[in-house]
Amino acid sequence: MNETALTVHQTARPHGFPTAEHFAFVESALPGPVAGSALVENLYWSVDPYHREMMDDGPGGFALDAPLEGRAVGRVIASRTPRLSEGEIVFHRQGWRTHAVVTPEETRRLPRFDGVPLTAYLSVLGGTGLTAYVGLTRIARLQPGDDLFVSAAAGGVGTATGRFAGLLEVGRLVGSAGSAAKADHLVREVGYDAVFDYHDGPAAELLGKAAPDGIDVFVDNVGGEQLAAAVGALREFGRVVRVGTISQYNTPDAPPPRFDYADIVEKSIRMEGFLVSNYRDLQEELFEFAVPHLQSGRLALDETVVDGFEHVVDAFLGMLRGENIGKIIVRDRTQVPVHEAPAGL
Ligand code: NAP
Repeated sequence: MNETALTVHQTARPHGFPTAEHFAFVESALPGPVAGSALVENLYWSVDPYHREMMDDGPGGFALDAPLEGRAVGRVIASRTPRLSEGEIVFHRQGWRTHAVVTPEETRRLPRFDGVPLTAYLSVLGGTGLTAYVGLTRIARLQPGDDLFVSAAAGGVGTATGRFAGLLEVGRLVGSAGSAAKADHLVREVGYDAVFDYHDGPAAELLGKAAPDGIDVFVDNVGGEQLAAAVGALREFGRVVRVGTISQYNTPDAPPPRFDYADIVEKSIRMEGFLVSNYRDLQEELFEFAVPHLQSGRLALDETVVDGFEHVVDAFLGMLRGENIGKIIVRDRTQVPVHEAPAGL
């Protein structure tokens, strides 16, 4: 067992795009569990766009020079509570660190489903998949045959949305992403009918070509110009599911998008945002929906896995730059399957 632990701290507030200079890796002695808690060795970490929002000053943000929080999956390696046993695999929110001292209330035991890897609990079965599921089933109330547009379609929420929509018998499935390679991947692997690279021109024109007959639902991970274009393309009784605004997280001075507000009335459009944290009660329903499809192979995992906790900051910054396809996950080196490990590991 390691005798030391590593924790990531945020050391300064970025204005615009963050860099590695805004973070520090801090080494300390391995913490011991106090009575009623357990020591967890983290195995998988999630880095997420909301962490960028937490880097800014304000309520609920990261404190400077203190351990950060994030979703993680780890193994209990020492316990001083009968409710957590050594060897047990748990989900908790003390990520960005190699080890965490947790209480049973702060952890969730993960059900194990045959053939489903642990990474799925941070991707399609975790908060990312739950966001996609809530967006489609509760906010959009997607009907079979509805034509759907998804922005940031190649990311974690975007790929899960595309795959779930296919299982829910979506009509035409259209997406946007940051490169031609991503667009290709989405059409070939994820089942999109058309995907455009949003760098290639005005969003309204690109969307008009990809969905010439309009759309019924827009799942919006991005905001900005694409949101305005989608409002224009929506048909009567269209729905906009506001999931996130990643186009603005690193450009705080950018003007908000402009669209024709009259469209909302004249086309009876409904625009609704949500936070997945208010829908945790649907976790079991997500398992019931997704697990059989994962096990049958109808639902595939879209994940970019980065090996080594020392790359957790790089993985986060890379995700903000669009270097991921599917959910980005950082994996402890002990979890690298033998056939994947380069010589010397
Ligand atoms: P992700 O999509 O896997 O990663 C972020 C992606 O955003 C990047 O891969 C990049 O892909 C794209 N991006 C970055 N800058 C952009 C820009 N200026 N314009 C357009 N696209 C840009 O992340 P995720 O975890 O799935 O999250 C997606 C969105 O959902 C985020 O806005 C996040 O905040 C939101 N979210 C909300 C909830 C909720 O409860 N409401 C929960 C989870 C996530 P490209 O190469 O395509 O640019």
